[in-house]
Amino acid sequence: MGEEQLEVLFEETRLFQPPEEFRAQANVQSAGVYEEAAADSAGFWARQAERLTWFEPWSKVLEWNPPFAQWFVGGKLNAAYNCLDRHLDGWRRNKAAIVFEGEKGDSRVLTYQDLHREVSQFANVLKSLGVQKGDRVTIYLPMIPEAAIAMLACARIGAPHSVVFGGFSAEALRDRIDDAQAKVVITSDGSFRRGSVVPLKANADNALKQVQCVEHVVVVKRTGIDVEMQDGRDVWYHEAMENASANCPAEPMDAEDMLYILYTSGTTGKPKGVVHTTGGYMVGVTATHQMIFDIKEEDVYWCTADVGWVTGHSYIVYGPLANGATVLMYEGTPDYPNKDRFWQIVEKYRVTILYTAPTAIRTFMKWGTKYPESRDLSSLRLLGTVGEPINPEAWMWYYKNIGLERCPIVDTWWQTETGMVMMTPLPGITALKPGSATVPFPGVNVEVVDKDGQPVPKGSGGYLVIREPWPAMLRTVYGDPDRYVSTYWSRWQGIYFTGDGAKWDEDGYFWVMGRVDDVINVSGHRIGTAEVESALVDHPAVAEAACIGKTHEVKGQAVAAFVTLKEGVDVQAGFVDELKGHVAKKIGALARPDDIFFTAELPKTRSGKIMRRLLRDIAEGRALGDTTTLADAGVVNQLKEKYADEG
Ligand code: ATP
Ligand code: MG
Repeated sequence: MGEEQLEVLFEETRLFQPPEEFRAQANVQSAGVYEEAAADSAGFWARQAERLTWFEPWSKVLEWNPPFAQWFVGGKLNAAYNCLDRHLDGWRRNKAAIVFEGEKGDSRVLTYQDLHREVSQFANVLKSLGVQKGDRVTIYLPMIPEAAIAMLACARIGAPHSVVFGGFSAEALRDRIDDAQAKVVITSDGSFRRGSVVPLKANADNALKQVQCVEHVVVVKRTGIDVEMQDGRDVWYHEAMENASANCPAEPMDAEDMLYILYTSGTTGKPKGVVHTTGGYMVGVTATHQMIFDIKEEDVYWCTADVGWVTGHSYIVYGPLANGATVLMYEGTPDYPNKDRFWQIVEKYRVTILYTAPTAIRTFMKWGTKYPESRDLSSLRLLGTVGEPINPEAWMWYYKNIGLERCPIVDTWWQTETGMVMMTPLPGITALKPGSATVPFPGVNVEVVDKDGQPVPKGSGGYLVIREPWPAMLRTVYGDPDRYVSTYWSRWQGIYFTGDGAKWDEDGYFWVMGRVDDVINVSGHRIGTAEVESALVDHPAVAEAACIGKTHEVKGQAVAAFVTLKEGVDVQAGFVDELKGHVAKKIGALARPDDIFFTAELPKTRSGKIMRRLLRDIAEGRALGDTTTLADAGVVNQLKEKYADEG
């Protein structure tokens, strides 16, 4: 094995076949879909494009001038029309499109007809504020229906939106408004967070002190706190909506017209303004959502992501609504007012499909099983996960305690840049392996390659790449095409580099082993963070772990682990050695951590991903890199002090 390859340390072998009952009713029941798509991927995507309503047909599926792609060339469509108008012809017009649950337990249901009316009215409001096709609009809102309404209103008139997660600071908001050169900002007076109020409008005001491009601010009243309204610039959403006409034809957009800009999470560095266009993106998210989530008319589908992340864009708004699904939207956090909040919501709305993140699942593990056990989860039929590698232990916990051993789990690997899920099981046909995102979606060509871009043999690790263009792929980095080329397409000619390391096993299943930037090099052996972390989480006392490589005189690097324990666990003498021994036993002496630090929290991005680069900075005693996307600055400061004392 070459030194540029990732070592594969252990193999999970247990297979979970889809339950017979699920298989029999699944949207996709024939494994032939994989072969068909592999034999003719353009044909496959052309068939998927028929799911949408096009104003004008496209003439060519794909025009590929690496690394620039055009999909469904010449086609004209509108994303909002596909999510709304076309559902109004039949009975679906009275179907719940969005079921909203507020943090305080207030709820609101918008049918497709309701949503269509509000979106059309708000599109007219935007027009009256001078927004034209092509103008950028920044959306900085809590998880309330107005966030989806604002996105769809932008899409309706062809104004690309840039949604900025409502948990971001004024500074982070300012940078994103400025980068997109937004003409209008849509925000709210404030947002509820664990019973208190975050002043979103005040944050926006601060952000706007330092940018020139914004002409108007629309303010949704959500919390009722006092805000300053700047004359001539700021308007209340509810006042503007009062007199707005509900008649606003959907703008015919070219398949390649920009739908939105979205900034990446910033786990590895400065966020990138990822650009998605209309046709290919809508085809990608509509097809993947229908096939992966097995969506049926009667489902209550809940994706717990925030609309500020790509998961919220593709799998709360565009994919599900294009499929005419009922989408549950929840404003708050999993621990407010109690740690059973998610399970209470599942019980209340009889949720059938739940899509969440490993960070949440590991938090539930930390809290213990008494919370899910206290609620009726029998309505659930399918579970999903996205955002990070899920440790097999966390997968099993989710499978047993939430899915009650009846629900398939779709572990979906994808990125802001890919726009749609790229690797995932199809829940009616793909056998599951805990910890593996299994196989590429039909029509998607993913590979693990070595440093020369050559495919590695089965059973080995390397760089995760995408070989062929796919419809929902990013088209560029906003305002910076050079960065698009250098970040994603420069390592190997015409091959998209994901930034992730992975292995593929003897069955051809893919295992994401973490970011290539995070790989630990012990005595010339390259180890992915995910395997060592999974070995730690496998210990019954451990809830979560993050591993990094720390400079070591002899080995080059040594493994250092930051570990969070489950609630109520006492650390006894000898426990650190026990944990180190556990890793050595599970995956080999090579991966045995030199140091283990206990911490109540790990540094994470606001989307919940572990930021190992900050842990490396702490361990090496360096100044911290970019921290603007960090969820809680207190966590790194505490760790820094603790590390200085013990390290
Ligand atoms: P930045 O690119 O700014 O550093 P980011 O990569 O965290 O931020 P996202 O696009 O939100 O931004 O995250 C995509 C990444 O998340 C993937 O590259 C991968 O590392 C990780 N990921 C997502 N889903 C999975 C999954 N199911 N299994 C393993 N890793 C996943
Ligand atoms: Mg990334």
